Amino acid sequence: MSEEKNDVIIGLECHVQLDTDSKLFCGCPTTAEEPNSACCEVCLGFPGSKPVLNKKAVDYALKVSMALNCEINKEFFFSRKTYFYPDMSKNFQITQYEVPVGKNGYLTLSSGKKIKIERVHIEEDPAALVHESGLAMSRQTMVDYNRSGIPLVEIVTAPDMRSPQEARDFLDQLTTVLQYLGVFDEREGTLKVDSNLSIKGGERVEVKNITGKKGVEKAMSYEAVRQKGVILKGEAVRRETRAFNEKTLTTRSLRTKETEEGYGYIFEPDLTAFELDEKYLNSIKQSLPELHDSKAKRFVQQYSLDGYTAGVLSRNPHLGNIFEQAIKSVDVALAAKFLTRELLGILNYNSLSFEEADLKVEELVGLMQLLEKGEVSEKNAKQALIKYVLEKASPRKFIEEQGLKKDLDETELLNAIEAAVNENRPAVADFKKGEKKALHFLVGKVMQSTKGKADAREIQKKLKERIEAE
Ligand SMILES: [Zn+2]
Repeated sequence: MSEEKNDVIIGLECHVQLDTDSKLFCGCPTTAEEPNSACCEVCLGFPGSKPVLNKKAVDYALKVSMALNCEINKEFFFSRKTYFYPDMSKNFQITQYEVPVGKNGYLTLSSGKKIKIERVHIEEDPAALVHESGLAMSRQTMVDYNRSGIPLVEIVTAPDMRSPQEARDFLDQLTTVLQYLGVFDEREGTLKVDSNLSIKGGERVEVKNITGKKGVEKAMSYEAVRQKGVILKGEAVRRETRAFNEKTLTTRSLRTKETEEGYGYIFEPDLTAFELDEKYLNSIKQSLPELHDSKAKRFVQQYSLDGYTAGVLSRNPHLGNIFEQAIKSVDVALAAKFLTRELLGILNYNSLSFEEADLKVEELVGLMQLLEKGEVSEKNAKQALIKYVLEKASPRKFIEEQGLKKDLDETELLNAIEAAVNENRPAVADFKKGEKKALHFLVGKVMQSTKGKADAREIQKKLKERIEAE
């Protein structure tokens, strides 16, 4: 199996929409409600219009290049990639070809394997083609130029990945870096990937325009199986470009011949060459935040966390911040467990991002303090947390109002245990015969009668003692 897996060779070209307010070469906004409402002569490609480079986009592209450990080209320029298509009204796309902003970098996967980044360059997004569905006879395609000129960075990797899962991991790591840098909004911006796959010794097949991380993993899984099937039949894989269908999870042939040279790149005469001075580059370097992998390493060293927990805590910049603020007032192990298991569990289950949940650290800390002092059971703390995440109800207040504080004294708990034992003799007998499930049943009975105010573990311990004493 592992040998088979190593036959697969994958490289990625990732197109990331940069989260700027205005477009790459004009002042039009990057967000608009109405189709074709955010356009001007530049992004519509009117003759005589002149592009002006958005400095913010350059800042962002430099940040991405530096975070991906690239060498920076201090002098770069733009080129025209000539082609005809309705989404590109001036018949060329302004991009970087000969000299990109960054080159020869790498990104580390969660396994520790380094994937080489060949280049990072800036380019403009074409307009969006909107296909009207309906009866085949009346089918129309419309063009929305709002997207025309939105800044993109394209990140091109070497063919270093050996499985669809590695490709997915690369994209996970990449989006984490982009989020840390604050240059990409995963909820609004898109990540489009052109992915190439070959089976060792065979021709390379490019799969175009895959949206999202899961899409890439699925497209590559299909493509690997398809190519292995071709080889098993004794045929040769053709060099071609294919399209991925998100509904059927299959790829289909688009065209068989296409090379970069075929596009006829020429130097963009309306934009002069750019020279970046040391001072400017240093200021960008200084502005880079601590990224997730170095944060994870620091968490292990500074707080003696295990590698897995440190990785989970640093995967999202918000979670890491909440953790570091929380541990000023609560125990490190308790905060780590509470945030990675309970909080992340609730957010994931409800498909909420940290931005959407908009949590206040004070509220989370208040709840963790109750837990730490043993004033609330884990079960009721979780209930209060769910209420807080979904309905913004203050956890402390909720616990007070619902009478969920652990005000149970030892005698009350022992009485509840006594009652459960006496009322459920068959279960007690089963437990004595070695049936562990019977004990869970009895714990459940005590939890019920004490309204979840006692911790399951404590009940279990006391129940065992009580039964073993018979
Ligand atoms: Zn414009």
